[in-house]
Amino acid sequence: MSEAAPEHRNEIASTADPKPDWVRLLLATAVLCLPAVAVLFGLLIAGAISLGTAALCAGAVLALMAVMLNRHFRRVRALTRYLQRLRATDDDRPLPTAPTGGDLLSPGLSQAIAETAREQRERRRDLEDTMVMNAAVLAGLPDPLILVGQNRRVLRLNPAAESLLGHDLSGRELALGIRNPDLLAAVDAVLRGGEQEAVAFTIPGKVERAMAARVLRLPAAAHAQASVMIALYDLTGVKQSERMRADFVANVSHELRTPLTSLIGFIETLRGPARDDAEARERFLKIMEEQSHRMSRLVDDLLSLSRIELQEHTAPSSQSDVGQILRSVASTLELEAARRGMRVEIAADALPPAVGDRDELTQVFQNLLDNAVKYGEDNTVIRVSARPLAKGGAGERRLGRAGIKISVFNEGEGIEREHIPRLTERFYRVDSRRSRRLGGTGLGLAIVKHIINRHRGVLEIESRPDEGATFSVYLPAAVEKPAALATPQAS
Ligand code: ADP
Repeated sequence: MSEAAPEHRNEIASTADPKPDWVRLLLATAVLCLPAVAVLFGLLIAGAISLGTAALCAGAVLALMAVMLNRHFRRVRALTRYLQRLRATDDDRPLPTAPTGGDLLSPGLSQAIAETAREQRERRRDLEDTMVMNAAVLAGLPDPLILVGQNRRVLRLNPAAESLLGHDLSGRELALGIRNPDLLAAVDAVLRGGEQEAVAFTIPGKVERAMAARVLRLPAAAHAQASVMIALYDLTGVKQSERMRADFVANVSHELRTPLTSLIGFIETLRGPARDDAEARERFLKIMEEQSHRMSRLVDDLLSLSRIELQEHTAPSSQSDVGQILRSVASTLELEAARRGMRVEIAADALPPAVGDRDELTQVFQNLLDNAVKYGEDNTVIRVSARPLAKGGAGERRLGRAGIKISVFNEGEGIEREHIPRLTERFYRVDSRRSRRLGGTGLGLAIVKHIINRHRGVLEIESRPDEGATFSVYLPAAVEKPAALATPQAS
């Protein structure tokens, strides 16, 4: 609007009367005095007045008219200058003062103009405030919103819509951004006079997005052009979590059903054909015991997982000695490792305490070392190293603060690259049969990931086929207090 004003001003200047003021004054005086001069001339012809009287009267009328018109023209010029100043004044400057007084031909005109200008400025400000507020509301809306006019031309879209479509579609055909025929048909139906439509559709891409759209007709008065508003809701997350929940229930049922089926089978066999077979009974009871333990482990892991998830938003504040935790975990696995000819070697010197919950960190390293023993190669050494992160180094930058890096390395067949990002998903295994045979629940690394998330740490998995695997955990280190401020620790 402010840009259009100068053009308009030029237009007015160019259409202004090019005659000089005194010519216009003479012309106007002559025209307005014509009837009086005609009457005087009539009286002179009729012999009612003498030539001298007629000339005197005509002169007096002309002079009086010239004086009045001159005053009026001056006033009009002052008003024109005032209007020009009004047009040139920016909105943030005070309005120029209107010329005072009035004349016979235009009493109170300048005051009326000044009043109108003031009212218009107030209305414009109200309008601008409303527009700024509307724009802020539109921009702040997390859901994409698109206004479409006739011929499906996009009139306006908010930043959420822009980032969904990847570019600004303003002024272009909607179909250039969203090609879904159902949505376009719904927009056409509302443009043709329908009230509203609801459509569910997907936007293809690297990650397919599930969308729901509500297409509404806008009241014609609200915007001369806009006819249709498209409100989009991204349901990808909701659908994904619905799918995850369904998958999770299916997985848990499957994991529990397998040992349950085998338990039921063995119970039937023991009550039937193997009733009197002492040797079979012993063998079956051993398998049944293993399966029961597996179910129990599964239930324990599920409970751990849900407990950790509930606490995930509150980071622990206690401090733990990681070196001690590693040694105690390694000692519990010593027998199992020795059975496979393996040994656990720990290098953990000069470690600062970690900010972490002792029980949860024990569970992390229990799961990682347990996996190293399960999936590592017989007769090899499992190497565990723990060291403080170098100041300003890549590890510290990654963690965002001072910390400790603990790595568990085992030799073995390793993990193919494509599996690595998925290992921390619940029930994801590279080889399900092998994991189950080794007593795995498929939840160990999911638990590790959630505990580390809660500790605001990082889990890093590095592996190549046939080169073993390294699972590294970055944990925040407790910052040492200056000696004078340190409070004695309760032992
Ligand atoms: P599981 O109970 O199956 O061990 P986890 O969540 O602990 O479940 O591990 C998921 C999968 O990650 C395992 O099934 C295995 O395929 C793989 N994995 C975990 N640790 C290792 C390791 N140290 N070496 C090779 N593969 C591993």
